[in-house]
Amino acid sequence: MNYKDYIRVIPDFPQPGISFKDITTLLQNGEIYKKAINDMKEMVSALKIDVIAGPEARGFVVGAPLAYALGVGFAPIRKSGKLPYETIEIGYDLEYGKDRLAMHTDAVRKGQNVLIADDLLATGGTISTSVNLVKQLGGNVVGAAFLIELAALNGRNKLPGVEVFSLMTYE
Ligand code: 5GP
Repeated sequence: MNYKDYIRVIPDFPQPGISFKDITTLLQNGEIYKKAINDMKEMVSALKIDVIAGPEARGFVVGAPLAYALGVGFAPIRKSGKLPYETIEIGYDLEYGKDRLAMHTDAVRKGQNVLIADDLLATGGTISTSVNLVKQLGGNVVGAAFLIELAALNGRNKLPGVEVFSLMTYE
């Protein structure tokens, strides 16, 4: 079984030159989705994890079932303006333009061990911002786990000191 057989690669989406890795074809297969989450659980089994934090929207699709499988809590990281309680926010640059990510101030407590989860690591902008949010709340980032890593974009370099786990790697 090769997980990549379940990823649909869409050329020139959302813009020319980008080869988009569509995970919906993996998600629609219950057996493979479950196996992927269980394999991610195995990958991080050496870590002590109190909470998983995942950025919307695909970080929820990976992070929440992983949290359930590990029996730990889940903390959503959302775009600015979506969370109802008191938040902290950090702005970051996208390939084109800027965005802001937010977390509830009580989503992570000081000293908790946090694993960050998302579907895909590209340039690392989303995850390094997520790491900074968790750190600002006093959390200890013990790792970052992904279904897919786009190795050529060197996202890992934006995550110094963070152990990175990925189920699939594309060059
Ligand atoms: P980064 O911030 O590392 O450049 O981009 C990663 C974020 O963009 C992730 O939250 C991910 O959901 C999204 N993303 C970027 N490229 C792709 C792609 O090819 N496929 C999928 N599924 N998501 C992508």
